[in-house]
Parts: sequence; C-alpha cells; structure tokens
Amino acid sequence: MPSYLDALEKALPVITEHALAVDKEARFPKESLAALREAGLMGLISSTDVGGLGQGLRAAGEVIERIARECGSTAMVLCMHYCGAAVIEKHGSTESRKKASGEELSTLAFSEAGSRSHFWAPVSSATADGDDVVLDAHKSWVTSAENAATYVWSSQPLSAEGASTIWLVPRAAKGIAIKGPFEGLGLRGNDSSPVTAEKVRIPKANMLGEDGGGFGVMMETVLPIFNVMNAACTIGLMEGAVQRTIAHVSGTRYKHLDSALADLPTIRNYVARMRNKADMARTLWQDTIAAAEAGRADTMLRVLQVKATAGETATEVLDLAMRVCGGAAFRRDVGVERYFRDTRAGGIMAPTTDVLYDFIGKAVCGMDLF
Ligand SMILES: Cc1cc2nc3c(=O)[nH]c(=O)nc-3n(C[C@H](O)[C@H](O)[C@H](O)COP(=O)(O)OP(=O)(O)OC[C@H]3O[C@@H](n4cnc5c(N)ncnc54)[C@H](O)[C@@H]3O)c2cc1C
Repeated sequence: MPSYLDALEKALPVITEHALAVDKEARFPKESLAALREAGLMGLISSTDVGGLGQGLRAAGEVIERIARECGSTAMVLCMHYCGAAVIEKHGSTESRKKASGEELSTLAFSEAGSRSHFWAPVSSATADGDDVVLDAHKSWVTSAENAATYVWSSQPLSAEGASTIWLVPRAAKGIAIKGPFEGLGLRGNDSSPVTAEKVRIPKANMLGEDGGGFGVMMETVLPIFNVMNAACTIGLMEGAVQRTIAHVSGTRYKHLDSALADLPTIRNYVARMRNKADMARTLWQDTIAAAEAGRADTMLRVLQVKATAGETATEVLDLAMRVCGGAAFRRDVGVERYFRDTRAGGIMAPTTDVLYDFIGKAVCGMDLF
C-alpha cells in the first residue's frame, strides 16, 4: 500500500468519529483537518523540496474519495486546499509553497456576486498602488472561508489584456470580511461563505502567474485538479451510500416472512442499479486520471466529462438509496440522507453540470469552448 494511504488510515478514525456532528452542527471539521495535517496529507501534492509528498492527481483523488465515504465536508475542504495548493505550487514563492504544503490551509475564491458560477469572468477589481495592489470584491462562496489561511483569488487584470489575474490573499489581510455562517443543505461543515474585500492591500508580488493570465491558470492548473477532485468527492460519497444501503438491506428483516429486505427481487434490482451506476462513474474517473498521466489527446474532454458524470450519477444513486432504505432513510437511521444532501453540491459547484454539458457538446462538435 502506498505510504500516503497508510498515513490516511491513521487519520480516518478521527474523520469518521466527527462526521455526524460536523453535519448536524454545521461546524468546520477542525479535528479531521488536524489529523490530516498530522498525517502529512496537507502537502500530498506539494513538491518534496518544500516538504510535501510530491504526489499527483491519482494519489490526491484516492485520498479524497476515501475521506468522502466518511465525511463529505472534510473531503471538500481538502479538495479546495489541493486546488489552491496546486496554483501556489506552480506560481507561488518558495515561502508560500512551503506553507501550503502543511502549515496553511488554502482554498479558491473565484465565484462572485456579479459573475456567479462563471468563474472565468471575475468582475472584482485590482488597482495598482506603488508596489502594492488594492483589491475590492464580493466573493459569493468560499469554502473554508473563516478557517483558511490563504485564498487563491481572481480579479480583473491590473492593466494587461485578458479575463483575469490570480492573487494569493491572506485571510488575515485588513479589509477582508466573512459574511457567514454557512447554513447549507449539504456539506454543512465546509464553512463556505461569502467573503468581501474592501480596499484590501497586498504586495504586487502576491500575483500568481502573469497579469491577465488568470484564464490560463484556471484552465491549465485549476480545472483538471478541481474537476477530478470534485468527482473524487462525489464518487466517495456514492460509495459510502452504496455500502450503507447494502448493509441495511442485508441486515433488515421481515419476521413474518423470515427474510431480509435483500430477499426482495425489487430491492436487489435497485441495489444492482446503484452498484452499476457508481462503478461506471468510478471507471470514467479512473480513465480520466490515466488520460492525464499519459498526456492523452482526450484529457480535456475527460476532465469535462468526469465532474458532470459524477454529479449526475450521484443524484440518481442517492435517489435510489433513499427509495431502497425507505422510512429508515427518511428518519436518518441509515445515514444515507446525509449523502443524499452532500452529493447535491457536486453538480452546482462551478463549472456546473449544465455548463459542462455545454462545453462537452462544443468540444465534441469541434467548436471552441469560449
Ligand atoms: C458547497 C459549495 C462550496 C463552494 N465552494 C466554493 C469555493 O471554495 N470557491 C468558489 O469560488 N466557489 C465556490 N462555490 C461556488 C460554486 O462554484 C458556484 O459558483 C455556485 O454554486 C454557483 O451558484 P449560482 O447558482 O449562483 O450560479 P448561477 O450562475 O446563478 O447558475 C444558476 C443555474 O444556471 C445554470 N447556468 C449558468 N450558466 C449557464 C450556461 N452558460 N449554460 C447552461 N446553464 C447555465 C447553472 O448550471 C445553474 O444551474 C461553492 C458552492 C457550493 C455549493
């Protein structure tokens, strides 16, 4: 077993122990994040020269998928951290790369009140002032808003042509305000809140990539890791739900018939459909990772497909789980309703499922995405 999975085994009992309370109380999974940090997994994709484990998409996906089977909120917080860390790793200073590899939790601050899920078109501003930049923004959703140490932040360019520029913004910067708390349907512990910036001053050196080069950073670095990690999260949630459903139907009995729920052909049929759908999404996910690793020509198509497919499949699988587990699911006894709520996030996180369908349609018809 790879050493990062060994390390994860140590953190999993803590994540499992707190998962129900994180959901019920809509509280940030602090204990789980501490366990992941202790296990060295915050730096999983950071280079070894800055103290990370130097792993890639496959390892990060495996870790997130496994965590999501227990706690969707923890998995999503880690997913957003890996996305932020990937940008910092590629474009940040050695100091910021070191911090992102363990000490500092990161996240993405792309969605805005003005451009909503169209993350590629920020309307917020960045104004040069000597060696500094002054940021003003209404970010509509930031995972780990209160708990992150840094935001990987989009704005309009300073002076260059282009759709956007990316910045490393400290959570502690003067003028940052969190408009929480988060009260979500699912992933209730992920601390996703609106964040505003009012005359936030940061050094110009905090630019990640080129001025006006944000679109390239988003498409080349963020989109592949975000879509594959978001799918990992959704696939792990599906797996958690499938396993709980199987345990429920196998263990629940009708005394007067002396049989289990699983003895009903209708129930077995639904469980089979759940298994098939979940496995089909997982197979596409694994092929997407293989495509990225091999630099295959269809990598971008797979990256677009995998998030849309995982999100859509999860809503179907969780609908079946709720149906199969009946009243026990409605009453929360089996625990599948938490997965039912958590899986709804995958499809509405940008790029949303409908935007991805539009992109996939354009890609297969030989049209430009933008
Ligand atoms: C749990 C959670 C965590 C999040 N964390 C973060 C984060 O850390 N950082 C961050 O930047 N954002 C984050 N987001 C925000 C997310 O990425 C989206 O921006 C947000 O959910 C979109 O919300 P909206 O309904 O306002 O989008 P809208 O743009 O208003 O979309 C509404 C509907 O219109 C559809 N639509 C929009 N444009 C098109 C189109 N061109 N073609 C077809 N249909 C279209 C969408 O698919 C959607 O169904 C998070 C969201 C959630 C739910």
